[in-house]
Amino acid sequence: MKKEKIVIIGAGFGGLNLAKRLDKNKYDVVVVDRRNYHSFPPLFYQVASSGLEPSNIAFPVRREIRSRRMRGVLYRYGKVTEIDMAKRELVTQYERISFDKLVIAAGTTNNFFGNDTLDEHVYTLKTVPEAIRTRNAVLGRLERGSIETDPVRRKALLTFVVVGGGPAGVEVAGALGEMKRYIIKKEYPLISRDEVHVLLVEGTGKVLGTMSPASSDDARKALGELMVELKLNTMVKTVENGRVTFTDGTGIDAETIIWTAGVAGVPFVLTGTDVRAGRGGRFTVDEYNRVEGLDGVYAIGDIAMHADERYPRGCPQVAQPAIQQARTLARNLNSGEFTRPFSYRDKGSMATIGRNRAVVDMGRMHFSGFPAWLLWMVVHLMSLMGMRNRAMVFLNWFWNYFNFGSPLRVLMRPSRLPLPSFRDE
Ligand SMILES: Cc1cc2nc3c(=O)[nH]c(=O)nc-3n(C[C@H](O)[C@H](O)[C@H](O)COP(=O)(O)OP(=O)(O)OC[C@H]3O[C@@H](n4cnc5c(N)ncnc54)[C@H](O)[C@@H]3O)c2cc1C
Repeated sequence: MKKEKIVIIGAGFGGLNLAKRLDKNKYDVVVVDRRNYHSFPPLFYQVASSGLEPSNIAFPVRREIRSRRMRGVLYRYGKVTEIDMAKRELVTQYERISFDKLVIAAGTTNNFFGNDTLDEHVYTLKTVPEAIRTRNAVLGRLERGSIETDPVRRKALLTFVVVGGGPAGVEVAGALGEMKRYIIKKEYPLISRDEVHVLLVEGTGKVLGTMSPASSDDARKALGELMVELKLNTMVKTVENGRVTFTDGTGIDAETIIWTAGVAGVPFVLTGTDVRAGRGGRFTVDEYNRVEGLDGVYAIGDIAMHADERYPRGCPQVAQPAIQQARTLARNLNSGEFTRPFSYRDKGSMATIGRNRAVVDMGRMHFSGFPAWLLWMVVHLMSLMGMRNRAMVFLNWFWNYFNFGSPLRVLMRPSRLPLPSFRDE
């Protein structure tokens, strides 16, 4: 009998976990991704702050599909732009790929909330290349700032504004604060520590708003210890010509703005159907992750939105729901009977704010400080894909813990020439 063909868009947490678990005797499985590696977003901020090398947190998809559980899975390189429901085909910049069943596991992209020119002026952290650009911007501004003699320009070069007080914003602000507190004096003798200004801007009244009040308070204190200034209940209005203005009427000269404030589902053009992605660019799914109105199409992970009593606005957009949805969907697809509804099991949340400082919520339990930081490290090490990556990350952390001078603060920009002959992205 001819096997059914399942195409998965995205080799992220959801996509790869699903591909691993699908019955290859029953289905031909194809994974399409615009990048030929799986990446680990929780540690992007460490690439941006020169704590880790990009390759430490990326794992080649082709290497992964050589593993026993992935045997028979086919990988295709390309960015999906269109889902053609009439022909049941995906369209990438290179080809059309037919499917019997489709799983959308493409995650999210940056959301600038309609402020469309922002993406031309801010640095972001949603992908490895974005984290590398952010790292180069930080290192470049420190080098430029150290030799700048005009006091106004110097101030703008040495001011770093992080937008968004969620885990990603808190973690990157903490890493910059650590740089200010421990690195500047050692490595940039021409910059006084007080000249470096790290500002974290958050639209609500607290940082880590999705975590417990105790975690939020502890994070605020830890940021204070790292000399990070907080600006709460404020949103960014404009970013132009090295100046940021805020909704409270104030403004600041700053050349490095790091945007972590919002996400939206990766957009696709849908043809042959009237169904569209809903709020936040997420596809509305039922408890079996079936996209409403699209026969044989499923969505998992950040891009899926299933509202229930516990999560009226959908599951949190973190790795665990993606992994758990992949497992449940694989079981349902393998059995051919959709009898096992998805129910999210919250295993807790955590964030780190520089060395020795982290906050953890597990059920009703909250703890912080060194034990939380140790747990944060173990959980992140264990979640990384690939033994080599785990060993390299452990080595880097060990080295950086005892020796503040990370050897990775190298300003490496790709050469601009020759001009690309085809579009990669
Ligand atoms: C900076 C940052 C920090 C985070 N920290 C944490 C954390 O500490 N803990 C936690 O649990 N979660 C964290 N998250 C969230 C977590 O990374 C996501 O919830 C998780 O990755 C979602 O899994 P997914 O499979 O839905 O999507 P992803 O893992 O994002 O995978 C999506 C895949 O789809 C591919 N793709 C996208 N668009 C296309 C297209 N058009 N065509 C082809 N391929 C495409 C991408 O290249 C990617 O490989 C963080 C996210 C970010 C950005």
